[in-house]
Amino acid sequence: MQFKSFNPPVRTLMGPGPVDVHPRVLAAMNRPTIGHLDPAFVGMMDEIKVMLQYAFQTQNAFTIPISAPGSAGMETCIVNLVEPGDKVIVCVNGVFGLRMKEVVERVRGVPVTVEFPWGEPVDPQVLEDTLKANRDARFVAFVHAETSTGVESDACAVSEVARRYDCLTIVDAVTSLGGSPLRVDEWRLDAVFSGSQKCLSSTPGLSPITISERAVQRIRDRKSSVPSWFLDLNLVMAYWGSGQRAYHHTAPVNPLYALHESLVLLSNEGLENAWARHRKHHLALRAGLEAMGLRFYVQEHVRLPQLNAIVVPHGINESELRRRLLEEYSLEIGAGLGALAGKIVRIGLMGYGSNVKNVLYCLAALEEVLSEMRLPIDKGIAERAVHAALG
Ligand SMILES: *Cc1c(COP(=O)(O)O)cnc(C)c1O
Repeated sequence: MQFKSFNPPVRTLMGPGPVDVHPRVLAAMNRPTIGHLDPAFVGMMDEIKVMLQYAFQTQNAFTIPISAPGSAGMETCIVNLVEPGDKVIVCVNGVFGLRMKEVVERVRGVPVTVEFPWGEPVDPQVLEDTLKANRDARFVAFVHAETSTGVESDACAVSEVARRYDCLTIVDAVTSLGGSPLRVDEWRLDAVFSGSQKCLSSTPGLSPITISERAVQRIRDRKSSVPSWFLDLNLVMAYWGSGQRAYHHTAPVNPLYALHESLVLLSNEGLENAWARHRKHHLALRAGLEAMGLRFYVQEHVRLPQLNAIVVPHGINESELRRRLLEEYSLEIGAGLGALAGKIVRIGLMGYGSNVKNVLYCLAALEEVLSEMRLPIDKGIAERAVHAALG
């Protein structure tokens, strides 16, 4: 058989991730592979840890990228912390809370789920009621930025309730890191995981995590050994920690160059500036969408700027809409998941992809395709609204 090189089409990625990768990040990925124990590489690993501490706003020494995607970061936090029989309150307001519950079950923890309607945040009061009824709970797990619905929960308030009941928090910050305020130390979060391909807009396949001193102590005090060799933080930290490095696995050398570059970009821009940029382009997109008569699925005060869940207008076939955007405009947006399949589309404005050009391109493509699908839209109305919003 004869195969040819794979050349991916050029896309604009405005879904739930991966998103457009900065050219400097792609260029970094192309640099020559060196040994993972090469002193030059070890120096770069140390810089990644420092820049991740900045991105997470933490002094935690246990702040590293796991060599696998966001879900592996989730699994790392749970397999290291939760022992068989440990009760974990899992807040579920979308797909990723459900995933955490499944992981807890697999390590033979005892999940107690608190459900919230999809499209709404975690309610700290309801969580508190659950904690009152479960005084033996040891952990509270929740999703800070629920990418499946576009909702932000108040991580500071959830953490405060959890601490009052002496629970450690396990926090999915996959979509919040770099895109909207996340302050690990100030909010006293314990085990927080993220992903490289969302608001850091690096390539997929790495999961930054950070673990508080309290949580590190809990891992040290375990009665049983961590039921995963690859994700065992005692072993991983002997590889990523300071001092003499013990070989554990071969770090994904080039993807780490990419992550390093994306963190250089973030630290040069400044975290607060990056948060403000995400907000600004969200507001611009909102102005355009609303001018076209489209509606958000989520109430304004809990909307994520980096993930816009839009109600599919009556009479519009959602999968045809996305297919045409992809085929005719090479533009990817996300589908609704689970109960929201067919009902919403998800427009990501994450990391490098959160810019005016993407906002205008997405609105122009939506205007064309929706008009052809017989939704009445005034030509140019969205673009004018964007310019008005940007001032
Ligand atoms: C994308 C995402 C994940 C999973 O990350 P992968 O890199 O796909 O494994 C987990 N949680 C949230 C909130 C996400 O958006």
